[in-house]
Formats: sequence, structure tokens, C-alpha cells
Amino acid sequence: MKYISTRGNSPAKTFTEILLGGLAPDGGLYLPEEYPQVTRDELDAWRDLSYADLAFAVLSKFATDIPADDLKAILDKTYTAEVYNKGRADSDFSQITPLRTLTPGVHLLELSNGPTLAFKDMAMQLLGNLFEYALAKQHQELNILGATSGDTGSAAEYAMRGKQGIRVFMLSPNGKMSAFQRAQMYSLQDPNIYNIAINGMFDDAQDMVKAVSNDHAYKAAHKIGTVNSINWGRVSAQIVYYFKGYFAATESNDEQVAFSVPSGNFGNICAGHIARMMGLPIGQLILATNENDVLDEFFRTGVYRPRGTAHTYQTSSPSMDISKASNFERFIFDLVGRDGAKVREFWANVDRAAGNADVAAFDIKGTAYWDNLPGFCFASGKSTHLDRLKTIRELWEEYGVMVDTHTADGLKVGLEQRRPGLPLVCLETALPAKFAETIQEALGREPERPASTVGLEDLPQRVTVMDADVAVLKAFITANVPV
Ligand SMILES: *Cc1c(COP(=O)(O)O)cnc(C)c1O
Repeated sequence: MKYISTRGNSPAKTFTEILLGGLAPDGGLYLPEEYPQVTRDELDAWRDLSYADLAFAVLSKFATDIPADDLKAILDKTYTAEVYNKGRADSDFSQITPLRTLTPGVHLLELSNGPTLAFKDMAMQLLGNLFEYALAKQHQELNILGATSGDTGSAAEYAMRGKQGIRVFMLSPNGKMSAFQRAQMYSLQDPNIYNIAINGMFDDAQDMVKAVSNDHAYKAAHKIGTVNSINWGRVSAQIVYYFKGYFAATESNDEQVAFSVPSGNFGNICAGHIARMMGLPIGQLILATNENDVLDEFFRTGVYRPRGTAHTYQTSSPSMDISKASNFERFIFDLVGRDGAKVREFWANVDRAAGNADVAAFDIKGTAYWDNLPGFCFASGKSTHLDRLKTIRELWEEYGVMVDTHTADGLKVGLEQRRPGLPLVCLETALPAKFAETIQEALGREPERPASTVGLEDLPQRVTVMDADVAVLKAFITANVPV
């Protein structure tokens, strides 16, 4: 299996070759040359597999340059009930991603039982083990540099803590995250994890990361890398739970299901798109946005209009507050029949529009691409703060289930958009404990706290406070990385 770029101008690479990198040299994103197909016999054989065995069945079609025994060992170590047991006390942790039925035909797929209580653990934990494996083989080291406003940074730190050959330098805006999020990250005492609180906003931290990454000599000398959502290892790991959720929600492989996915950077739902392209019987992929509805607008009207950070709202489902969706290019590549030249043209317009909210970067209405869109089975909708409060309240009152703000967006849009007759599987992307303020507003009570997080805020914290100064950041990295 080789991987090609969505912009059509980069040499094909193997899974391990793209694992530690980011964008392709031509600025595109990597995708398999062809999607591996799953036969009916395979689906039948996979139906009752454990999560780790299912992950092996799916991922051995993608990671073809990792010896089977090695891949199996990595997956067995990654997907265990010991790692994914941080969720609700009554969850079936042996399933890793248990399915919770709310009412016949409406289910939650629990993806947030991992160490940081958000679905990003599902992929990031695997990435940590894959990175450690690949670096050891190449006798290499990697220094991961990132900026976070919450979920990504903590998932990366919990995945990389204690790993050989890896250090993490994670920037966060000083005092801007919730007490819970701060405690989750800053209480880690592992010597390979460096928390850096920047006196500024998230965008200042992000700009510092970009500045260091753009200094190519410094980046190479200090072996700087990233783990952002375009990483192919992350996307591929997410394909697995669509299979798991499908099997759990159906009795036979003749049935179809609808998945609804709280979406930001389009990474999670992109994995669902790929699962469908492989032959998983998905009848509908329902994309849910919050007030930042750039993706909902595209699927309803054909217009792609990234908003720019100045026009991006801060909402109560903050992990979906995006101005442009970095993984969206992967889907567009498939929509335009894998025409790299067309993707180059579209993304030249995205760059030209530069987040000017009044300008459409591209518009496919009236083209053959618009006519092809229904064949990809997407539906979409948006949810607002008031919708979120209402959904959280209804779920709690009717089923005694507390959901977080992002999952509430997914449920609201999923119930609105699903085709009658299709079972609905809503992906639960985080647990309510992470978003206490909004739960308090909706229900007048504190969210449930998984046992593992009780007292988290009282643990000693380890963090370096720093001004938003690139030279100071570089000096800090240099001082901690033996060259
Ligand atoms: C990251 C995140 C999302 C958005 O996922 P994408 O892959 O970026 O679309 C949704 N909900 C939560 C809780 C997240 O952390």
C-alpha cells in the first residue's frame, strides 16, 4: 500500500514513511492510492472480534510495511481495558468503545473512556506506540511541538508520556483553559513532557509553533515534529471504531446504519467516509457543527467559505471552533474524482480568500461535483448553545444519561437528519466532566466525575510560564534537547 498526495505532485510513500511527517511536499495531504476493500466474508468474520483484533484486521490493510507480528503486538498493547477504563462507572470497558442504547434504534458509541476522557485518545494512544516503535527502528528521536486550547494537547501528552525517544513541548494559553483541563496536563510529572503556558491567547501560541516550524534549519537540528489532526496515523486509527460501532448496532451485515459525528477539523468523519469507501454498509454520515458552520454550509449549498480566526466564535463546544477544516481536503480529493490539479486550484482559492468571511473559496453548485455529492451519503446540520443546553437536559431527563456539549451537538443534528428506518449511532467525543460550566448551566448540577479524576485539581502541577517570544521558546527547547 502506497500513499499519494491530494495535490498530485509528490512521490508515493509507505505508511511508516508518512507516519512521522505532516503535509506532503506539495502541500497536500496523504491518502491511500486506492482504498482497500472489505469483502462480505471478511465482514462476517470480523463481526465478533475484540477491539484489538478488529483494529489489526482493519489496519493491516493500511500499514502494510509493518511486519504483522509487530503490528499485532502494538495494537494488543494499545487497546486494552486497562487503558480505556476511565469512563462512566457502568460502561463495559472490555469493549473499549461500548455502544450505549438510549432507545431502540438510537445509540451512543462511547469513544471517551481513555485517559483524557475524549475520543482523541483512541488515535493518539496508538500514535504514541507507533512513534516509539518507528523511532527505535530508525535509531531516531522526535521532539513534538504543539499548541493546544484543550483536548489535543492532553491527548498527545498522555499518549507520549514516558515514551523512549520522544519529548513533548506543548504550548497553551496561560489561564485560558478550564481548571480541569489545566490540571489534566500540568499534573503530569513525566520528565519527557514539557508544559509551557504562554502569556497570550491560543493564536499567539499557535503562531510561535509555526515560527519555529518555519525555521527549517532549527527544526531539522532539533528533530521537531507535530501530531496534528492531518496525521494519517490518527485518521486511520479512527476508521476502526466505525466498524466496531456498526457491528454493535446491527445483527447482520445486510443492515445499514447512520453515524452522526460532532465535527471540527473533519478528521473523525473523514475516517467514517473511508470506512464507507472500503465497503462498510454506512447509509448516512451526518456531520454536525456548532455555530462555526463552515462545513454545514458546504454540504447544504456547495459553497466552501472558511471564516478566518477573526470570524470564528468561541462556543460551549470549543473543540469544534474551527475557521477552516484541515482534513476536508481529503474528502474533496475523492469528490473531484482524485484530480490533484482540481484540488490545487481549489486550495489556491482557499489561500487567496485567506479567511475573508465574505468570499467563497470555491462553489461546486451547478458542477458535476455537486451531482456526485449525494453518492457520498453525507447529511449535515448545525447546533447552537441553546440547542446544546436543551439536548443535554432532555437526555438527562429521559434516559438519565449525561452527555458533553460536543456529543449534544451530534445528537441534535443526528436526530434531525437521519433517514427514517436507519439505526442512528452518535459518536460520543468527550465526557461531560470536561465541560462542567455548561453542564451546570443546563442541569443546575456538577457533571459526574469518573473516579480517576477525583482530586485531579489538587495534584502538584509542573508548568513553565513564558512570554509569547519565539527566541525564548527556542532557547527553552535547545536547553532541554541534547543535540
Ligand atoms: C477534536 C474534537 C472534535 C472534532 O473532531 P474533528 O476530528 O476535528 O472533526 C469534536 N469533539 C471533541 C470533544 C473533540 O475533542
